[in-house]
Amino acid sequence: MVIRDSRAAITSSKVLARIASARRYCSLCGKTNHTAAQGCRNMKDNAGQIVEIQPAQSTCNLCPATVSPRLNHPPYLCPFRPTGPFHANK
Ligand SMILES: [Zn+2]
Ligand SMILES: [Zn+2]
Repeated sequence: MVIRDSRAAITSSKVLARIASARRYCSLCGKTNHTAAQGCRNMKDNAGQIVEIQPAQSTCNLCPATVSPRLNHPPYLCPFRPTGPFHANK
């Protein structure tokens, strides 16, 4: 009984950890290693300076059509724009 109980405890803590990491999603850049609330390092202006912003109500229309779900950054900070950190052809 004691062994079974401790195993159940370990399993549930693993499940909780998985849920916590799955919830980490940045609605500004779409990455899952941070949240917009923690501050997004991919929101950079044309000088390469990180800009602290809150997710916008509207979605960006400069992101590639393949980006889903749509992201909530303002178009002037779009990481996919030619001067942005996600642009493929640097
Ligand atoms: Zn981000
Ligand atoms: Zn965008």
